[in-house]
Amino acid sequence: MEKKEKIFCITAILIICACMLMERAGYRNKEIRETESHGASNGLSGTDNKKTAFLTFDDGPSCLTANYLDILKEEGVKATFFLIGQQIDSDMAEIVKREIDEGHEIGIHTYCHEANEIYATQDSCYKDVMKIKDQLERQFNYDAKLVRFPWGSANGYMSPFRTNIIDMIHKNGLEYEDWNVSAEDSVGTPTVDSILNNIRKDYKKYDEPVILMHDSGCNKKTLEALRSIIKELKEAGYNFSTLSERKNPCHFLE
Ligand SMILES: [Zn+2]
Repeated sequence: MEKKEKIFCITAILIICACMLMERAGYRNKEIRETESHGASNGLSGTDNKKTAFLTFDDGPSCLTANYLDILKEEGVKATFFLIGQQIDSDMAEIVKREIDEGHEIGIHTYCHEANEIYATQDSCYKDVMKIKDQLERQFNYDAKLVRFPWGSANGYMSPFRTNIIDMIHKNGLEYEDWNVSAEDSVGTPTVDSILNNIRKDYKKYDEPVILMHDSGCNKKTLEALRSIIKELKEAGYNFSTLSERKNPCHFLE
């Protein structure tokens, strides 16, 4: 091999080695980035490993709300209730007042909870949110900060105007909240075991699980399961807080 060819070969080998090393470093960086972003989505930040569970109850107030509040009080747990405005009649007003007085958070679910009415148009959806927002201010002097859209923010009814509605509620100082754990207690015929298993299979994935349950007259099984849910989460090292205290809002889509 001539001298020129030797130099060419050595240079080529060196370039190939350098490329392999750079690719390896890039892959390593990608790995680190993915680990970090995974940590962020779980609510981890740096060395902060505190775990907080957010119990959320949709569709109240109901004839069972007082029972939920009794258990939460005994267990020293704060939760978030996403309410239906038209259910807050004079009897139910007392129980909503108790939710507020006992340190729970009140959020906007809907005024009417009728998909055809709420999601008929962008305007009807916005009006439904604002109607219960105004009601909570008027009836309880309560400044609600959170909205949980019926069927969640990724529901098909809302998709034609989803971005606009989210912009509109943000302009009113509101944030929307979905969930990352569901008790599946409003579908089919839930049992205490099915509720516990649905929560159990997902909460461990998150340092800040947002757990969807329902406070409606037909969800006696959720009430029966509540003590066991709290006990298990406590034993797994979770604290409890109201949803506004979460590091980031819980969104299905961004
Ligand atoms: Zn609902």
